[in-house]
Amino acid sequence: KRTVVCLGELLIDFVPETNGQALADVPAFKRAAGGAPANVAAAVAKLGGASRFIGKVGRDAFGEHLRQTLEEAGVEAALVETDEARTGIAFVSLREDGERDFLFYRSPAADMLLRSEEIGDDWLNDAAVYHFGSVSLVAEPCRSATLDAARRARGLGAIVSYDPNVRLPLWPSADAARKEIMAHMPLADLVKVSEEEVEFLLGKGSLEGARELLAMGPSAIVVTLGPNGCRVITATSDIHVAGTPVAAVDTTGAGDGFVGGMLYQLASRGISAETLGDTLRDPVNCGEIFGFANRVGAITTTRRGAIPSLPTLAEVNG
Ligand code: ATP
Repeated sequence: KRTVVCLGELLIDFVPETNGQALADVPAFKRAAGGAPANVAAAVAKLGGASRFIGKVGRDAFGEHLRQTLEEAGVEAALVETDEARTGIAFVSLREDGERDFLFYRSPAADMLLRSEEIGDDWLNDAAVYHFGSVSLVAEPCRSATLDAARRARGLGAIVSYDPNVRLPLWPSADAARKEIMAHMPLADLVKVSEEEVEFLLGKGSLEGARELLAMGPSAIVVTLGPNGCRVITATSDIHVAGTPVAAVDTTGAGDGFVGGMLYQLASRGISAETLGDTLRDPVNCGEIFGFANRVGAITTTRRGAIPSLPTLAEVNG
């Protein structure tokens, strides 16, 4: 089994051609395929790995554009089409201080309507890794579809990877987000979080927070540190893997590129849920796997956009 299977939201982000304005002041937007799990699938495929994205789009022009974008990146697009809602869209802007503003249109968007019974066994059977996030946990029926597929993939022997990727404006409250995001830690073998997310979820620093997450079930917690790389924490180890210095121009997609690089490495090395903990306790393995993931993340920041800025294997090794 070598396929990285990602499930969740797939939408069109409308991004300004220039940065530095509040969303209310942006005069014109450009379309960009978005959705964190879709970006991760694209990152794996651009590196030459096998990846599949499972999600739902509207039977409309934007759904068609997203299918084309995934296929051009080399992702197997396992997309369910619906007439019940339109393909999701969101408007994004990047302010002077680097903070992003979001305006979501999700009442509902097609991706939120994915149902468990629409996910065929043949979409999960060959999974080396099953990866999901928290945006698809905000509402039913997509929430149950995401969690059922995680349980099915786990039963089939896949590593379950979880990137909470907190998007607070999508949740009814911060408490609701925290509670729901934390509730599914026991399903995951591997969790990727940023330092800010550890603070938000647990009110703790990276090491203490990661130890609390590990106690809930995962074998390893990866804390991303922006330009400083990442920290890989298991019950008995804490390994810092230094970042790759670059001149960053747009950090959109860096976290997803990083996750794609990490999952590509796990799948191509044939690492299983059983061997994951031992593998990530080893400093040499960590240096190779996360040095690679850090380079993917770093290169992604040197170009604009998410999917268009993801590197090929030659660029990462070059
Ligand atoms: P996101 O902001 O995309 O939701 P995140 O918070 O996990 O995700 P970061 O920690 O900013 O993202 O970045 C993920 C990874 O990308 C880092 O661990 C690092 O490897 C790489 N990276 C990000 N920013 C830089 C940078 N300025 N220079 C070098 N590498 C970077």
